[in-house]
Amino acid sequence: MPCHEGEIVVFPPTSVNGTDRQTDTDNQEKDVDLETRFPDGSVRLRNPHVAQMEQDVLYHLALGSGSHDLVEMFSDVKFVCMGGTPKRMEGFAYYIMDEIGYKLPAGTTLLDISYQSYRYSMFKVGPVLCFSHGMGIPSVGILLHEVIKLMYHAKCKDPIFFRLGTCGGIGIEGGNLVISESAVDGLMQPFLELPVLGKMQRRPAVLDKKLANELKQLRYEDDPFTATVGKTMCTYDFYEGQGRLDGAFCDYTETDKLNFLKQVHAQNVVNMEMESLCFAALCHHAGIKGAVVCVTLLNRLHGDQVDTPKETLNKWQEYPQVLVARYIKKQLGLPINIPQRNHPQVVKCPRQAKLVREQSESFE
Ligand code: URA
Repeated sequence: MPCHEGEIVVFPPTSVNGTDRQTDTDNQEKDVDLETRFPDGSVRLRNPHVAQMEQDVLYHLALGSGSHDLVEMFSDVKFVCMGGTPKRMEGFAYYIMDEIGYKLPAGTTLLDISYQSYRYSMFKVGPVLCFSHGMGIPSVGILLHEVIKLMYHAKCKDPIFFRLGTCGGIGIEGGNLVISESAVDGLMQPFLELPVLGKMQRRPAVLDKKLANELKQLRYEDDPFTATVGKTMCTYDFYEGQGRLDGAFCDYTETDKLNFLKQVHAQNVVNMEMESLCFAALCHHAGIKGAVVCVTLLNRLHGDQVDTPKETLNKWQEYPQVLVARYIKKQLGLPINIPQRNHPQVVKCPRQAKLVREQSESFE
């Protein structure tokens, strides 16, 4: 059975023999499929109230089902990519535009579709929708509710969600990728807990293992990063929640910290960040395939401070984008290792274009 509000979920499923367990899992998946998809594959909501509403205001996206033609605007979306900051996701939007060769009409540019909300940013490049999700579980959770509803209102078919983020590696040096196979909280619990109507709701933080492995396969031998599939610990805090010694408060020793990190590492936890638990739980509950790809900013076994030069950090933050872009291109049937365009789309010769620009700028 799917996990319902207030229900305590036992992991793994409790049936005694392996065959029963497999059948239970298959049935659960069928239930989720029926509850989360219409027969044509478009997203169905597990909330009967929304269909009854005259209009649905997606408040934090500055969009609404009554005010906007969401089908016209978004029904072609196949891939939803989200990451922490507006700048990074705008950069990704321009990057994926060149990678898939998406053409904007001359003289037009990308616009942050949600700029009026002053909360999240949103950029659309053909079948790819890019969002910033802010920091932490509450922020990504609110965004996911509204993006999943957007998929429903727009009648999107089988969208795939990606989180492209940063993390602290455990036993992995800075500048490498971790693809989450699943997420756990700071107590190693594999579910998202949220108090709902005075009861604790638990939702399993399950990610698509096949998708995680497909992404790993898209790393090439000559890439400047490694790609590890493993468990991700998602915490409610960057400092004490991740066992750092450099927060405003600290009531434990360096030995306590290292013992904890080594203990979770022994249970296949390879990184820590602050959004994957909610991302995995809400995507899974919505029946949406999701993947989390993060670049490590440091190896937490060696320190706590993020003190790598900004230029290097900016370079590293492109690595999750490279892998996800390859996946998207593969799904679209495009050649994976060559971008569809190497320069801004209307410029034939960048050197000459620069000269022309400089020349016209010099006249008043
Ligand atoms: N993000 C985190 O949550 N933790 C880190 O150590 C680095 C990035």
